[in-house]
Amino acid sequence: MTDLTTLGIAAIRDGVRDGQFKAREVAEAFNAKVAGADALNAFLVKTPEHALAAADAADAARAAGETLKPLAGVPIGMKDLFATKGVATTAASKILEGFVPPYESTVSQNLWNAGAGMLGKLNLDQFAMGSSNETSAFGNVISPWRRPNDTAPLAPGGSSGGSSTAVSAGLAPGATGTDTGGSIRQPAAFTGISGIKPTYGRCSRWGTIAFASSLDQAGPMARDVRDCAIMLEAMAGFDAKDATSLKLDVPTWEAALSADLKGKRVGVPKEYRVDGMPAEIETLWQQGIDWLRDAGAEIVEVSLPHTKYALPAYYIIAPAEASSNLARYDGVRYGLRDLPEGAGLQDMYAATRAAGFGDEVKRRILIGTYVLSAGFYDAYYTQAQKVRTLIARDFERAFEQCDVLLTPTAPSAAFALGEKQADPLAMYLNDVFTVPASLAGLPAMSVPGGLDKDGLPLGLQIIGKPLDEQGVLNAGLAIEQRAGFTARPQAWW
Ligand code: GLN
Repeated sequence: MTDLTTLGIAAIRDGVRDGQFKAREVAEAFNAKVAGADALNAFLVKTPEHALAAADAADAARAAGETLKPLAGVPIGMKDLFATKGVATTAASKILEGFVPPYESTVSQNLWNAGAGMLGKLNLDQFAMGSSNETSAFGNVISPWRRPNDTAPLAPGGSSGGSSTAVSAGLAPGATGTDTGGSIRQPAAFTGISGIKPTYGRCSRWGTIAFASSLDQAGPMARDVRDCAIMLEAMAGFDAKDATSLKLDVPTWEAALSADLKGKRVGVPKEYRVDGMPAEIETLWQQGIDWLRDAGAEIVEVSLPHTKYALPAYYIIAPAEASSNLARYDGVRYGLRDLPEGAGLQDMYAATRAAGFGDEVKRRILIGTYVLSAGFYDAYYTQAQKVRTLIARDFERAFEQCDVLLTPTAPSAAFALGEKQADPLAMYLNDVFTVPASLAGLPAMSVPGGLDKDGLPLGLQIIGKPLDEQGVLNAGLAIEQRAGFTARPQAWW
């Protein structure tokens, strides 16, 4: 009997449909894996009964001869930024401790409607702010990967570090992520899995705890490109409850997957050759270019002249929006309330927010409040918005010459926990390749390309035109087929 936890989403779906195994066996196998992996700290809440109930529904539907739903029998992990009805939801912050939503986010509801079950709620950087999962109030997630002969714990990437860890350690065949400036793509790259951030507006943000509303997008993280396509089809779709949701039908991305890139042009942006980039990343990037050429694509060099301003603009816009979004956590409406003896309302706000938010969240609220303040608004916020427009225009022009762009996902492989924590700027620099596509609202994906000298995964990023998830997925598939990436972390947990 094969270990069912070695299977991905497509294999589970097909196996359940064809009667090779029962959905209940799949759920039990993954529940057991989750229960045995506490050392990774990937799960904040475990919901084995949710996974079993969805599995039983799939088995019953099959026994009754019904057509199975697209994710029937597939258990997944849910990033704890998605509100789940009746299941504690904290965004990994103390300020939401004890909050049990009376409603379900649209993305999670879409997944349940498609037949998926939930293994649990996944740890993350607090309010999705971070690149290493070290800002969680409930402890670091530990990457399942290690350097050879070295037990130093490595970062699983962030903010979707619980999601990347759960999928790469085989605790879940897929997991939801959210991506504001790279939080799906960078953790996918650090852990040797695939993840796609769709075009802004493809997935509803309703019921997803807001960080920076003009940037936040949900997306899938899974073992391969096909599994991402399957999961994204279930997650995406118009939602009247989100004013920025796109009123478009969801394409059949899986059915249209093709690794034949004949007639396609792949752009290589010269500004992404940043100073100090490790030679291994350069080499992998060149390898990726060769793979896409081999798949039939023509390679063109393109220019994205405002790339160097993307990171500073992002770290103004995202905190500005966060400072506004996080104003709602005041001790009145959700979770934590710190009401000192004899205190007034203002004191309660201050005490609650001082006790409830972590350092990184406070840093962002301070920066955001500063750049939005009367004296500095034009100097920072307005300037950043202008830069954002220029960056979007750079991409528009580049896409007159090509269909997709190929870049590295991150400027390094996974770093050790603690290595960058004391230096926020060093941490922010890790987002240098992912942030521009976020500012422009473009679909972008990371697929594993190879290993570095320490045997750690490196990812390649594909950025597409607005709404061209298909082009992104297809280029991802072409890389996947040529990279032959099969490395998995050795279980030590
Ligand atoms: N690392 C980036 C940040 O800290 C991106 C986070 C995200 O995409 N949620 O803002």
